[in-house]
Amino acid sequence: MLAITLIIPISGFATETRIIPNINQSFSQSFNYGGPPPLPGDMSFPFPIHEVSENIEKISRRHNTDTVSRNDIIIDMIQQLDESMILDYLEDLVAFGPRVTETTACEQAGDWIYDQFQSMGLDVRYHSWSNSGYDSENIEATLHGLDQTSDEIYIICGHYDSVPGSPGADDDGSGTVATLAAAYIMSQYSFNHTIRFVTFSGEEQGLLGSERYAQEAYSNGDNIVATLNVDMIGFAEDEFEGSKVKVYHNDDSYWLVDYTDDIATQYEDLIDLDVLPSGWSWGSDHYYFWEYDYDALFYHEYEFNHYYHSPQDTIEHMNLTYDMKCTRLILATLATLSNPGGSSNPPDTPDQPDGPTEGDAYTEYTFSTSTTDPESDQICYKWDWGDEISDWEGPYASGETVESTHYWREEGTYEISVKAKDDNGSISSDWSEPIEIDIAGIPKVDIVIQGGLGVKATLTNQVDIDLEDLLWNISFDGGIILVEEGTSGIIENLPIGESEIIQTDKLFGIGLPLITVAVDDVEVTVRGLLFGPLVLIIG
Ligand SMILES: [Zn+2]
Repeated sequence: MLAITLIIPISGFATETRIIPNINQSFSQSFNYGGPPPLPGDMSFPFPIHEVSENIEKISRRHNTDTVSRNDIIIDMIQQLDESMILDYLEDLVAFGPRVTETTACEQAGDWIYDQFQSMGLDVRYHSWSNSGYDSENIEATLHGLDQTSDEIYIICGHYDSVPGSPGADDDGSGTVATLAAAYIMSQYSFNHTIRFVTFSGEEQGLLGSERYAQEAYSNGDNIVATLNVDMIGFAEDEFEGSKVKVYHNDDSYWLVDYTDDIATQYEDLIDLDVLPSGWSWGSDHYYFWEYDYDALFYHEYEFNHYYHSPQDTIEHMNLTYDMKCTRLILATLATLSNPGGSSNPPDTPDQPDGPTEGDAYTEYTFSTSTTDPESDQICYKWDWGDEISDWEGPYASGETVESTHYWREEGTYEISVKAKDDNGSISSDWSEPIEIDIAGIPKVDIVIQGGLGVKATLTNQVDIDLEDLLWNISFDGGIILVEEGTSGIIENLPIGESEIIQTDKLFGIGLPLITVAVDDVEVTVRGLLFGPLVLIIG
């Protein structure tokens, strides 16, 4: 969310002048939570927030105005969304650290989001933008609608950038994760209308990315019927705060307030939230959709996060159950609007996978299964390998025996199961009966340490797959080491059966140190005789 300490004349929606209190005042002093949200942000420069001056005509139109009714497919989707899914995504996103637009951390987070969307089988693109002296990318993933006659587009969005010094777990990790989780779940289904999952950058600098996005959509004549913008839905300190969600709207978008409120009522048992219509706000990425006359809602936590825009905006200060409930509401609203399509019956639960029940790490093994579809539709399969879940594979003919391969990195016992869906928009089947495999850990590289001028080691790939990004390190315990340089590095690629030699750059010392060569989780230690730059391996 944004903030400034400037006086801003706003027209077009409500001709009023807003005085934004100085951000240094503590929130509880400056705002009562019945009113519009505080609009803080990165205050080191003036904000380019403005009204769109062009003559804007409303281009969005919604063809079917079905009312909201309870639907099994929606229930199936909602039930897949739990706290652990949100936590997994949040931890990965926050691990990038503060994600200030144009910084490496922000770009890396964008690439990670891109990869996540891609792994879901969605149509993904970087939307590069320039605005107010900034250049960055929005990430957009599309699930195309089944109904070829429909041009309706529905959007869920959040911003993945944060302010300096803040991990931005709630602002706006919560919105970014809601977008990712909705994409992950909805990508397993089909819908009659097209859905876009969008994460913006440049929000904290003045809604820069979303302005360019809305502008491009308008100039392309995109029929965006509704945009659900999610910014800060993860903070609630008690049951009362955790039972309500604020929804900001303009007049044209009020039908969406009613819609999402109906969703909350229809799925009360699974969502358990009161929707609070909260009036107008320009404090997040929905704003320029309104400016281009698109209908949009802005979902925001009831109690404004007390750790907002600070180093303490961390996962620990979030309420994941509240976050999950809000995300379920937004997912169900988006999915219902997008009209789940292809009401075909799912394939039968696939056969228990057939394959080996024991093996070695880093060796690929093949498993097979089969099932049929009641309408003989083509079938896709998703494998749960116990350490990761595959993308949808296929399609294959109904009744065909299919194979898939996997290798495990870690020693352990893994349960493998598989489920199916048809390519006609069915929900997915149940997971099959699992099969278990015992995996023995084996050292993926053989390490042979040699002496001479410094320490050398020959690393040989001894598994059935090419090894990538191997981190190596040479360390000493004992002896007197006066100079040691170049004792660590990375091997980008070590193909099957191949060897590579690593060695210290500079070494000088005396004594009988233990010399350890480590490559990822594989280690070998020998005793060495060190005399100046010379090393003799003695055992
Ligand atoms: Zn924000």
